[in-house]
Amino acid sequence: MSKAVEEFQPLESGIVRMYHCGPTVYQRPHIGNYRAFLFADLLRRFFEWQGLEVLQVMNLTDVGHLVGDAEEGEDKLEAQAKKEKVDPWKLVEKVSEEFFLDLEALGVKPAHHYPRATDHIPEMVSMVENLIEKGHAYRVGENVYFDVSSFKPYGKLSGNNVDDLEAGARLAVNTEKRNPADFALWKADAHHIMKWDTVFGPHGFPGWHIECSAMAMKYLGESFDIHTGGEDNIFPHHECEIAQSESANGKPFVQHWMHTRFLQVDGGKMSKSLGNVYSLDDLSERGFSSLDFRFLVLKAHYRGVLNFTWEALKGAAETRKALLDLHGRLCSVSRGAKAEESPVLLQVRQNFTQALVEDLNTSAALAALFEIRALCLEGLLASEAAAALVLLEEADAVLGFLGEVAPCELSDQDVDDLMMQRRAARDSRDFAQADAIRDQLQEAGIVLEDGADSTAWHRGR
Ligand code: AMP
Ligand code: ZN
Repeated sequence: MSKAVEEFQPLESGIVRMYHCGPTVYQRPHIGNYRAFLFADLLRRFFEWQGLEVLQVMNLTDVGHLVGDAEEGEDKLEAQAKKEKVDPWKLVEKVSEEFFLDLEALGVKPAHHYPRATDHIPEMVSMVENLIEKGHAYRVGENVYFDVSSFKPYGKLSGNNVDDLEAGARLAVNTEKRNPADFALWKADAHHIMKWDTVFGPHGFPGWHIECSAMAMKYLGESFDIHTGGEDNIFPHHECEIAQSESANGKPFVQHWMHTRFLQVDGGKMSKSLGNVYSLDDLSERGFSSLDFRFLVLKAHYRGVLNFTWEALKGAAETRKALLDLHGRLCSVSRGAKAEESPVLLQVRQNFTQALVEDLNTSAALAALFEIRALCLEGLLASEAAAALVLLEEADAVLGFLGEVAPCELSDQDVDDLMMQRRAARDSRDFAQADAIRDQLQEAGIVLEDGADSTAWHRGR
């Protein structure tokens, strides 16, 4: 809203409440959508890493989002269902399932609630009634509109002003609105398949904007900390959410609005006609993991330009692989040693943290991790490697690109080597060293059985 970096303080100390505009479940989300959803996951992981509790809600839009995002046109869901000759409710099921599988493949932590618009019709209706009572909304037949002239700050998020909007909207033909810039809260259409019999009439369905306001409030309260979406959501969607919610409750709706810059593909907007509206399946068909895409997204700042090309994805996959290799290498160099963070590593940790604290600069955070790689190439002591490993794994708790890496394990050869070193230490009566090696082995899950003149070992805890 302020177009500036602000200090973040949750409204309630210790807990962050966030709402993210989720997918319109009429077709499987594309990689552009996932840039926005991965940003939501980054926020979640970041706050948890900072020791805060997070309450996270992402909605599924399954009715009321019209083709073209604005006031006119068919419902995206019903239009697509018609095209595929399927029942819109079935389509919602299918796409939601694909969406959840995609999130899992991307390593996204599940939000606490994924409310569906169609499950919250009563909440929406009561909010619309409240707005009518307070004089912010009016009925025309079965339709209900929000009166933008009743909310003076309208335009504060997008910078649009009502006069300009009205001039533009006048070109469209909806003569029943009082002001051309007013927007629909509730719409009637006898031909709509997903429709509800309510106080407004028998054939109604909610406007897209009221859905998010009603669901956000239900799960997060009348005021909460962060609301996100892609940059296209700023207007009209989020501007309208503010107008409705603040008019209904008489208090600020959201502390911070954060918007992800659109993902470009091949230097432009992705489009069906260019055949570049890619899903995660298109990526895996070319041999890429969804985590490679996650890594590509992390390489750019969320407000910065990110242009998807196959070449860029290949680059991201290679860089991710380099960090996976680094993880393996640190495992074998550290050989279960006790972690001791050297001053250089401490500096790396600080650089990493500082990058994220400063408006989630993930590209700078990744650059910090590459400093570990440089250190490793120069050669690290086992204890430093162990500390570097801890740091890398902690960093991945926020960035989440490593995926399921095998836990570090000593190879049989490593264990035999350490056993020999322990024997040598004992023989030279360096018991401190011998004990240190025994501890290191135990730490790595190796059980020693000292016999009279030899020591056997096995794995287990
Ligand atoms: P939709 O399914 O159209 O409702 O969009 C779901 C979310 O994805 C919204 O927050 C959009 O702003 C976001 N989104 C759509 N396209 C892109 C894109 N190319 N890059 C980033 N975010 C996007
Ligand atoms: Zn929304």
